[in-house]
Formats: sequence, C-alpha cells, structure tokens
Amino acid sequence: MPKRIPKKVKQDITLEKVKTLFKEASKQKDPKLANRYINIARKAAMKINLRIPRELKRRFCKNCYSYLVPSKNCRVRIHKNKVIYYCLDCKKYMRYMLKH
Ligand SMILES: [Zn+2]
Repeated sequence: MPKRIPKKVKQDITLEKVKTLFKEASKQKDPKLANRYINIARKAAMKINLRIPRELKRRFCKNCYSYLVPSKNCRVRIHKNKVIYYCLDCKKYMRYMLKH
C-alpha cells in the first residue's frame, strides 16, 4: 500500500518550499531569475491550492508576477491607510489595506 502524505503535511512542505524560493528570489541580482523563482513558487502553491502568505504575496506583482524590488521596479506609497504598490514593469497599481 502506498503511503499517502496527509494534505496538511504536504501543505507545510510546500509552504516551506515557497518561502525558500522567495528568499532565493530576493538574493537574485537578475530580475529574470528572481521572476523564475517566483513562478516556480506560485506553481507549487497552485498545485495543492496553497494560499501564499500575505507577506509574500506583496513581494510580486499580481498582474505580471514580477518580483518587486522597491525603488527598482516598484514604487511603494502609503496613502491614508492603504499601501499602494506601483509596478514599473506593467504599470499597474496594487492596493493593500495597512491594518488587516
Ligand atoms: Zn506588474
């Protein structure tokens, strides 16, 4: 009988993998490489319907999935109680509530 890995364990493993991939992405000097790490992380998470933690979700563009580096390819502004990310790659804005 093949041993099935419980879903929870699978999710924990994938979450660790996703976190590691994001960490690796942050070390990359080449944005293309960083984006590749993000893509792998996204796909791994998608495969098992894992929700990417909020703090990691903000690290890439929701529209073009570029890894966002403030002052490099993204501008971060705080307006009222919202954080506004402006992706310089695809020229899209993303808004997040500050307190949530
Ligand atoms: Zn973008």
